[in-house]
Amino acid sequence: MKVTDHIDKANGKTLFSFEIIPPQKGKNIQELYDNIDPLMEFNPPFIDVTTSREEYVYIEKEGLFDKKITRMRPGTLGICAAIKHKYNVDTVPHVLCGGFTKEETEYLLVDCHYLGINNVMALRGDAMKGEQYFKATRGGHSYATQLVNQIQNLNSGKYLHGVIDVDDKADFCIGVAGYPEKHLEAPSLQTDLKRLKEKVDAGADYVVTQMFFDNQKYFEFVEAAKKAGIHVPIIPGIKPIAVKRHLQLLPQVFRIDIPETLISEVENCKTNKEVRQVGIEFAIEQSKELLDAGVPVLHYYSMGKSDNIKAIASELF
Ligand code: FAD
Repeated sequence: MKVTDHIDKANGKTLFSFEIIPPQKGKNIQELYDNIDPLMEFNPPFIDVTTSREEYVYIEKEGLFDKKITRMRPGTLGICAAIKHKYNVDTVPHVLCGGFTKEETEYLLVDCHYLGINNVMALRGDAMKGEQYFKATRGGHSYATQLVNQIQNLNSGKYLHGVIDVDDKADFCIGVAGYPEKHLEAPSLQTDLKRLKEKVDAGADYVVTQMFFDNQKYFEFVEAAKKAGIHVPIIPGIKPIAVKRHLQLLPQVFRIDIPETLISEVENCKTNKEVRQVGIEFAIEQSKELLDAGVPVLHYYSMGKSDNIKAIASELF
């Protein structure tokens, strides 16, 4: 079922969902299941599975270093299929522009369709590790809007190399990213909203936001999006702070602000166990306010460990 159909069916009730990151290659999938198992009692209608960019590795050969490209995590689609069939839940693979040609993306989408996966998050992807700027892959897309266009073309039977008379047309529901505090490369929030509107006009069905810690920024973003003509559901993305280092890391990587109250509570913690508890309590309060405001879904970034998400969900769902 489509994410938007789940939202419609809920009839105003806020849903619970979360995002997982595939484990590093070589690890057992059981580790992933062990993190998903405790969250299934909260009935997530869908689970997102992220995709990581390819990485450079340097292999020493007779005193010289050979630069090679590798992927550190297994394919998202296989994991989505495994989770979908194990838990009978919809899964949302994240599909990236970066690292994929349009042909590779088409194969991926065709496989999604065969596997009954009809939701996808269409994302540009970040710059590769060690590179300062995002560079489009040769034969790939530069912006998420172009990826949304490709997916919508497929929905209408238009493949890259022509129209195919299909008897089971794809019908993907497409999610895209939104940034209450603007994307780090955007010159202004207004320009970024214009770009978001382009993604929606190209056929995106819903938006999931970057993490934020100040609900006011989300509420203002939703209002500004409406004014800009964006009328699809905007799902808030929530990340509980888990370690002290997040105070520096999250603003640096995502260019987001952390409220003073949360900063001082985290700074007063003596151990990361205490920080994790502060993160849980803050996320519960943040989520309660969003619930009261009637957001369609509370979507949590689980980052591979679910104990804190379980503690939060237990208070709310
Ligand atoms: P875009 O919408 O393409 O925007 C990128 C930048 O370009 C923005 O600054 C925008 O304003 C600008 N822009 C857009 N169109 C144009 C145009 N035509 N001309 C000029 N400028 C333009 N990353 C991963 O690698 N894997 C994941 O699984 C993943 N999941 C994510 C999930 C969510 C909910 C979110 C919020 C982000 C996720 N990301 C993920 C991170 C995302 O890939 C990065 O934030 C990336 O830098 C931007 O992706 P985007 O899809 O928002 O890009």
